[in-house]
Amino acid sequence: MKSILQRNTEECFLCHTTRDLHWHHVYEGSRRQASERHGFVVRLCARHHNMSDDSVHGNEELNRRLKRLCQRVYERTHTREEFMEIIHRNYL
Ligand SMILES: [Zn+2]
Ligand SMILES: [Zn+2]
Repeated sequence: MKSILQRNTEECFLCHTTRDLHWHHVYEGSRRQASERHGFVVRLCARHHNMSDDSVHGNEELNRRLKRLCQRVYERTHTREEFMEIIHRNYL
C-alpha cells in the first residue's frame, strides 16, 4: 500500500518505532477501499493504532486530527470537489 501522508511506511507515523506495525485507514467503513486506492492510509504501531487511549481508535480528537491532516495533504494537489467525490464529507 502507498500512503500520501508518509514516505517511510516501515515505521509508526506517530512515534517512528519499527515494531508491531498495522495499516490504518484514515477514512473507514464504506470509504475503506477508496482510502486504500488514494493512499489515505498510515502505518501505526499497535499502541497508536488501537491498543491504548493514545491510539487513533481510542482517541476521537486524534482520529479527527488525522482525518483533517489527510484531507489537507490531498488538497495540496487536488481540489475540494475531488476530495468530496471520494470521501463525501468535508473535515476542514
Ligand atoms: Zn507509535
Ligand atoms: Zn485503523
